[in-house]
Amino acid sequence: MSLSIDEARRLFLEADDAELQALASEVRQRFHPPQQATYLIMSIINYTNICIAKCDYCSFYRLPHQRGTYQLSLEEISAKIATLTSFGGTLVAFNGGFNPKLRLSDYAELFATLHQRYPALTFFEMTVAEFMFSCKVSKLSYSHGAALLKQAGTQWVTGGGAEVLSESFRQRHSPGKYRVSDYYQAQSALIRAGIGSTATMVIGFDESLDERFAHLESLKNFQNEHHGALPSFLCWTYKPWNNALGGNEISLQEYLRWLAICRIYLTNFSTIRTSVLTRNEGAFAALTYGANDFDIPLEDEVTQKAGATISLDIASLLSSAENLGFTPLHRPPFKLPMSRDIPPQ
Ligand code: SF4
Repeated sequence: MSLSIDEARRLFLEADDAELQALASEVRQRFHPPQQATYLIMSIINYTNICIAKCDYCSFYRLPHQRGTYQLSLEEISAKIATLTSFGGTLVAFNGGFNPKLRLSDYAELFATLHQRYPALTFFEMTVAEFMFSCKVSKLSYSHGAALLKQAGTQWVTGGGAEVLSESFRQRHSPGKYRVSDYYQAQSALIRAGIGSTATMVIGFDESLDERFAHLESLKNFQNEHHGALPSFLCWTYKPWNNALGGNEISLQEYLRWLAICRIYLTNFSTIRTSVLTRNEGAFAALTYGANDFDIPLEDEVTQKAGATISLDIASLLSSAENLGFTPLHRPPFKLPMSRDIPPQ
């Protein structure tokens, strides 16, 4: 079954929860054993909060001249990684602001050092959005920037900074960040250089249903054009505290229903991930709405500043999945897509 956008919209608006769960679970079972859920323990290290993009939904950034700016040193980053490994964590994701003083070569140098120091860990280095900005200030094309990271040993970036990939949403809330077509060009250049990436989405701002579906439609097309190169799709929810946009947090039920639609519509993604970071124990209910994978995060200042709370009681979190009848399995990192599988531009 492959749904049109109109059919997916009708389902979201009219189907009851039981129907959405049944349809999403049917698609999930094409890829995964029904009672299995996989996870990783990870940290998101926010190495600089200096940013000039001024997204109105952001609670994290400081402008370069403001008080409270920082850029972590190598030793500060290493201390955070030591905490992660003491909890059995295996994945470090980096996410920071659009810091105009940092060139892409600065990031590449840092990442190369970290690869040498921690060969057993997986690193998700930069978001696609940060990569775009860094290429701009470094006066590099996306393909040259991707080649520079590849040379430094970068294996993965994340598809972070995507929020809602709709031009009207971007103009309303973060006109200084990027244009949607540009985002996909950068993502494509990274994949073609042999660097893995992921797909993400954030809901619960003031986005319209049209804007949400524009995100899903363009993402599905991108994934088809790149022969399934993105191994996972993660959707989380906006936290409305301590920022200019404000508003109210969406309900858990709306999040679960939307994740079910993502699973049903994005049939070219095998892994759909639920967000423990923003929904805590509630996130595990998404395993019955089509999700099959989750992170257990130890820190992420970006969402914590906006109101997210993090539990370090990993056994208790996993028991939430077990109580729903799932067997959580700690998984290895995703396999990198083969760049030879990606058709030429
Ligand atoms: S969301 Fe990212 S790009 Fe936007 S202001 Fe915050 S740190 Fe900067």
